[in-house]
Amino acid sequence: MALNRSMHPRNRYKDRPPDFAYLASKYPEFQQHVQTNLAGGVMLNFKDPEAVRALTCTLLKEDFGLSIEIPLERLIPTVPLRLNYIHWVEDLIGSRGDGEAQRRGIDIGTGASCIYPLLGATMNDWHFLATEVDDICYNYAKKNVEQNNLSDLIKVVKVPQKTLLMDALKEESSIIYDFCMCNPPFFANQLEAQGVNSRNSRRPPPSSVNTGGVTEIMAEGGELEFVKRIIHDSLQLKRRLRWYSCMLGKKCSLTPLKEELRKQGVPKVTHTEFCQGRTMRWALAWSFYEDVLVPSPPSKKRKMEKVRKPLTFSILQPTIRELQIKASACDSSQNSIVQAVAAWLENTLSDLKVLHKRVPSGASELSLFLTAAENTWIHVRQKRREHARQVPRAPPGAVTAPGAQSPQTHTAVCSAETAGQYSGNGQQSGGARGDEPDSGRDVAMESAPEQEAASSVKEEAPSAQEVDPSTVQPTTPGTPPHFLFKCLLNVKPEAVGVLVEMHWVEGQNKDQMNQLCTYLKNAVLRTVTKPQ
Ligand code: SAH
Repeated sequence: MALNRSMHPRNRYKDRPPDFAYLASKYPEFQQHVQTNLAGGVMLNFKDPEAVRALTCTLLKEDFGLSIEIPLERLIPTVPLRLNYIHWVEDLIGSRGDGEAQRRGIDIGTGASCIYPLLGATMNDWHFLATEVDDICYNYAKKNVEQNNLSDLIKVVKVPQKTLLMDALKEESSIIYDFCMCNPPFFANQLEAQGVNSRNSRRPPPSSVNTGGVTEIMAEGGELEFVKRIIHDSLQLKRRLRWYSCMLGKKCSLTPLKEELRKQGVPKVTHTEFCQGRTMRWALAWSFYEDVLVPSPPSKKRKMEKVRKPLTFSILQPTIRELQIKASACDSSQNSIVQAVAAWLENTLSDLKVLHKRVPSGASELSLFLTAAENTWIHVRQKRREHARQVPRAPPGAVTAPGAQSPQTHTAVCSAETAGQYSGNGQQSGGARGDEPDSGRDVAMESAPEQEAASSVKEEAPSAQEVDPSTVQPTTPGTPPHFLFKCLLNVKPEAVGVLVEMHWVEGQNKDQMNQLCTYLKNAVLRTVTKPQ
């Protein structure tokens, strides 16, 4: 859950991701959608809309006491992201539901789930006017409000497509609303919805299914035009609402919209980013009240840290015990858990023909400097194709270290296991952040891995005591003049076992280091099942 550390500080999932195993044991409907992996971790397939829906409904039930129904063919909201937005609205209006005056908000395009009003009413006793254009969404939203006995706080209204705030507000001309919020249809057309031209070509495909219906995910002109229409309504309504706000699926929408607000002379404008799992969203807010307190936009600190963040994965105690048993059979000096893991890594790296050398490190840890000259861990079929195109195929003996399993055998197994990680749930793609300026949104349902509790490859900021990779000289004897990348690998003890960190030093493409990291993670898991 790479970005969870940057969730809103009050988001209940920030430090406590959903416990899939517990939820599965308590909710039979959720249990149907989980699988247990080799290490005993409980996983959810985020490409399966039914699984994502089951998770959302289960979390709403478990953590908020809400029972909702959502049709599969409509947008399935993910809870951590929605909570991030609710908490930001709390910051905007300076309210956390602690006995202050009644707060009123508008949710433009509430969806079938009616999730923002349901959360806002349940958490903060907020009153909501929830608008919707789509008949199916409208009917479900009404039903979801009724079945949670929240009709006294939430009013769902059907509005015509052409209007946003004006029609919804024309009846109640005297009420002042504290805020409006909106998760607009993000895409201008089908191609954009499929991610064509909107994603960095190096990024893997979206992590999860897109379940949104046409009016939910597409609007003429995409989110930019949709939000501009809200801005223009706000120019007429002005102080009828204290804050206008809108979520954005693309970071690049922020600048033109802020420019529009500036041109129109709107006095108070701010923005934020919502971080969860591997997904980022942005949000914009503006006000015509001079006296509102404006929360500061997020600092640039997080982004600066990101540059230095290593890839990490954890190896748990049972797996380490296996490694220790195997290591002690041939070398009794490998008795500390860090040494056992380091020794296993060194063997595996030798098998992969990745040059490695121990370098000085902190007292309880071990550091290896890695130089990868060729990609020996890549999908074996892809490699064969590459070889066929580029060079005559090497004789089998050329890639097999003496006494070791053939790297190609390793690679084949790894590829089968990790295929989903590259093209599927995006667990491990360090380059696949959603905050690149050109990044489109992953999918209408915000890339569900934001809720992925079982993800084990994650990015962490290095601690101050750590070796700074930039100060490590690539002095490995025999370093080939051409290399794919160099990185510093630290092995350090942690509460549940051992943490492996890979710090980028230099090279052609960070994706290669990501791949090696996933390979190592999967290879160590396989050792648990291999006969000794
Ligand atoms: N708020 C929900 C749904 C967001 S999808 C969530 O966050 O999960 C966007 C929703 O806006 C869709 O349900 C779509 O039907 C609705 N919508 C599109 N145009 C609209 C308009 N002009 N007025 C109100 N709702 C609209």
